[in-house]
Amino acid sequence: MPEQADGRGVKPPDELNPRREPVLDFPDRPLAEMTAGDYDALGFLAGLEVHQQLRTERKLFCRCPAGRRATAVDAEVLRHMRPTLSELGEYDGTALMEFKTRKEIVYLLERGTVCTYEMDDTPPFEIDAEAVEIALELAMIADLNLVSELHVMRKQYLDGSIPTGFQRTAMVGLTGAVPLRVPELGVDRELRIRQLSLEEDSCREVSDVGHRITFRTDRLGMPLTEVVTEPDLLTPRELQAGARLIAEIARATDRIRRGPGAARQDVNVSVAGGRRVEIKGVPHHRGLPRLVHNEAFRQLNLLRIRAALRERGVEAAALADPPGGDPWATSGLVVEAGGVLGATGYRPVRDARERGDTVVAVRLPGFAGLLAHRTQPGATFGHEIAERVRVIACPVHRPFLAHSDRGAATLGPGDWRALRRALGAGGDDAIVVVWAPARDAATAAREVLIRAGEALAGVPAETRQARADGTTGFERLLPGPDRMYPDTDTPPLPIADELVETVRVRLPEPPWARRARYEGLGLDARTAHRLAAAPWAGLFDTLDPRAGGTARRLAALLERRVPYHARRRGRGSGSAVVGAVEEIAAPGRIGPLVRAVEGGEIRPAALAPAFDDAIEHPARPVEDIVAGYRPRADDAARLEARIAEVVARSDEPATRDPDAVLRWAMGEVMPGLRGRVDGAEVRSRLAAALEAEGAEATA
Ligand SMILES: [Zn+2]
Repeated sequence: MPEQADGRGVKPPDELNPRREPVLDFPDRPLAEMTAGDYDALGFLAGLEVHQQLRTERKLFCRCPAGRRATAVDAEVLRHMRPTLSELGEYDGTALMEFKTRKEIVYLLERGTVCTYEMDDTPPFEIDAEAVEIALELAMIADLNLVSELHVMRKQYLDGSIPTGFQRTAMVGLTGAVPLRVPELGVDRELRIRQLSLEEDSCREVSDVGHRITFRTDRLGMPLTEVVTEPDLLTPRELQAGARLIAEIARATDRIRRGPGAARQDVNVSVAGGRRVEIKGVPHHRGLPRLVHNEAFRQLNLLRIRAALRERGVEAAALADPPGGDPWATSGLVVEAGGVLGATGYRPVRDARERGDTVVAVRLPGFAGLLAHRTQPGATFGHEIAERVRVIACPVHRPFLAHSDRGAATLGPGDWRALRRALGAGGDDAIVVVWAPARDAATAAREVLIRAGEALAGVPAETRQARADGTTGFERLLPGPDRMYPDTDTPPLPIADELVETVRVRLPEPPWARRARYEGLGLDARTAHRLAAAPWAGLFDTLDPRAGGTARRLAALLERRVPYHARRRGRGSGSAVVGAVEEIAAPGRIGPLVRAVEGGEIRPAALAPAFDDAIEHPARPVEDIVAGYRPRADDAARLEARIAEVVARSDEPATRDPDAVLRWAMGEVMPGLRGRVDGAEVRSRLAAALEAEGAEATA
């Protein structure tokens, strides 16, 4: 296989947006008012990392069951994070950050879902063969170049979500492309896939309060694939379409897990002048566009703040991270402010002093007004600083910070004057006050200076957390590219040609082939697109409608009625519908209806009511249902009589609105004739007859 590649040494994604000049004068606009051209002007670029749990019996490197959710607690393990020099002899920025948080990490263990492997007490077992097979299948659907050997690597993970501090991961395929075709966006090109890896899932976070974070280990070590795309997605809607496409590829295998948390995407976003920021763990596709739209403008706003600082001549050196020790003792920008604020009327600071917390004030030279600069909907640069403090210094009490740009809402005017004197702050300077136990207050003051210093670089390299309102919050510093190193516990595993062949022969139909097939059946591009992604696509295929009218009619019918019947049975939406489709609409009952239409036995218009009957009256033989819709010799005569009778009563409805009267008349005529006469024809005949009747009445 000449196209096979080595499983190591993939170049990390470029951090900076290729366009270095920010478009500072681009107006902040809501998502709905933005065009593709607007995002192009902004230099918007986005890519995806999609994590998908695989449906295997066991976890990836041990014999524990996969997919079982633990509720009991048989044991608790407590760990502390300590920084270690990476193999390259440097402290990774992320490692340092995790160390600074001084987190106590608690793992809740349940005997049936975890063993000594996950806790790093025994070496890994052989990699799960089922997982390798599914990963190969996915890589082949995405047309990636397969590796000839799996090389297990260790990817550093220092947030505590993996007890060993690293995740085992193996590249399965790289450099491929899939067709990205979105008719409603006018998009028809390729989405390049950088790589697909097979890796272990991390722990499930249960709580994170102060300096204590608690995890469940049931999910830990479950196999998942990570698909990484190139930053080829050029608008928020395209990004959403890309995420849907990757999800469709995964679903094509039918060997993945579904439901909450089974698929999680990380999104990389940047704009001109900005840098790649990673938004982590977005659970669904719906919220994606707003999230990345807001992130694009957050970056633009940070670049505006940088421009303002540069204009004011603020230098990064002025904000340098103070040397070790308490910053109020080592930095000219920080004072211990408990005494200065001894008489404050501001309750949170008074309470803090009563608790024995340390209150510190930090001077940010040249920042006056900028802490109130908008960054996201409802958030300012002041929030960026507060978040950094919250995540790294872990203050327990809220609020824990005040700043001079919203001074009036917090400390009194006298307090701010006193702080300005104590700090030697001028009118161009901003002041941030934080309060927490001494050690956390020291961390907080340092973080305020660090984050302010980063404002001079523009957009810090961060991972951010998606919030339900479409904004994001700081999560951690983006790990450096050197966090992968070979795993010495696992020998390289050759991928046998026979295995590749076995997977290839039963490779499922890729979603784009499925869409093309539906278009071949006469469906328009959008309907074909929706059907290919719908939970009832399999049912549609089983029913095997004839190309043309029947296929179109059936596709429209399933789209309209399956969700309706699923809802009525309390099988809501999403994965619940998936499991319910064939149970609701058994092919054995729906198939004969489709055949009856195709054989001319019943009218095409009868398909919908017959479909509803077949589902709503499960005990009624399907032959009876078909018989009920077979046209009868007297249908035409009955229709004539009914129309005449209803038109004669057309003064009954209270309204004279012609549309309302027509709706009433249809409701009177159609029962008993539904599916046996053409509704559209009845409607136009009724409309004409009612008009004639009306004309006569007024004459
Ligand atoms: Zn285990």
